[in-house]
Amino acid sequence: MHNDHRIVEELVKTGKWSRDHATVAVRAEFKCEYCGLDLLKDAQHYKLWQLDHIVPKKLMVQDGMDPDEHNNLAIACKPCNFDFKWRFDPRTTAGANADRLALINAAKEEIRERKQACDSELSRLREIAGRVDG
Ligand SMILES: [Zn+2]
Repeated sequence: MHNDHRIVEELVKTGKWSRDHATVAVRAEFKCEYCGLDLLKDAQHYKLWQLDHIVPKKLMVQDGMDPDEHNNLAIACKPCNFDFKWRFDPRTTAGANADRLALINAAKEEIRERKQACDSELSRLREIAGRVDG
């Protein structure tokens, strides 16, 4: 915990991170909280870095809640956040009173299903393109 605090302070000193963002990043160990991708691995991974609102911002505001509250923030890679999770509200499957972990798990499940659908589409594209796997 003490070490986490030091890391947050060092990140803030770089001038590129707000204290909130740095705190969320350290909690996530700099990995996508949905697929586990290490976002510090290299420049390619780093460029996928996004800060996700677990319950979409607009819906939190509608419900009179603070969307930027730490428990509603997660570190995510762009494919998980933008391409697959998109506007999914994890409360629809986890329940209105679900805690952070339950909401993340609900989002993970939705992302997994949407990735599977994308994989099927990709298989078809590979067939058309004449690519043979393996
Ligand atoms: Zn991800």
